[in-house]
Amino acid sequence: MRIGCDLDGVLADLHTAFAETARRMFPEVADALAAADVAASPPEDEEPADPDGYAPPPEMALSRRQSDAVWRELEARENFWESLGEIEPGTIRRLATLTDARGWELIFLTSRPRSAGRIVQQQSQRWLAGQGYEMPSLFVVHGSRGRIADALQLDVVIDDRPENCLDVVLESKAGAILVWRGTRGSVPVSAKRMGIAVVPTMEACLDALVAADRSKKDVPLLDRIRQIFGLRTRPAAPFLR
Ligand SMILES: [Mg+2]
Repeated sequence: MRIGCDLDGVLADLHTAFAETARRMFPEVADALAAADVAASPPEDEEPADPDGYAPPPEMALSRRQSDAVWRELEARENFWESLGEIEPGTIRRLATLTDARGWELIFLTSRPRSAGRIVQQQSQRWLAGQGYEMPSLFVVHGSRGRIADALQLDVVIDDRPENCLDVVLESKAGAILVWRGTRGSVPVSAKRMGIAVVPTMEACLDALVAADRSKKDVPLLDRIRQIFGLRTRPAAPFLR
């Protein structure tokens, strides 16, 4: 099994660092920063209005100028990406144990912007090693996650952004698992329709992957994952392929 796994919002807690900094800089927007999905991942802007291209997530009450100011503050911190916490403590260690025991190939994917100090790739690798994942393969990539999944011949991509998951199912043969930490009712309707599996936690995601890995080997891997998530009803729809 070849797995692509995003960092921020899936494993790394960018939200807390971002929200703390934003609250300190702009106390008047404190209430709007409470939701767990605020700045869970670095924002990606299709058409950046400035060279660094950070748009505030739409759900955030920060203005573009305020959001940019928070990012400038974070990016100026020496090796900022090494300083984050783990969203679900112990998950990365479990991931390391699983990849080792089950022979999974794992590639971490991230679109993190630069910060002061070491290059983003090194900061991210050192962070993962510090959480218990030795020698991680990791790419810092911008652009279509689907084309990346296709080029790397991934079987599954795990991400917390619905648009990235959508890109994966549309542009590659890989399946997508969306880690959605908001309420169940707020899961984008397009997710299930497009055959994207949705899990509330990374722990649940790993449980499902283990179950798929253990189940009938004569059924293709993605079909097994599809069955576990109940995504098998209408064969004509573009389900997990
Ligand atoms: Mg993310």
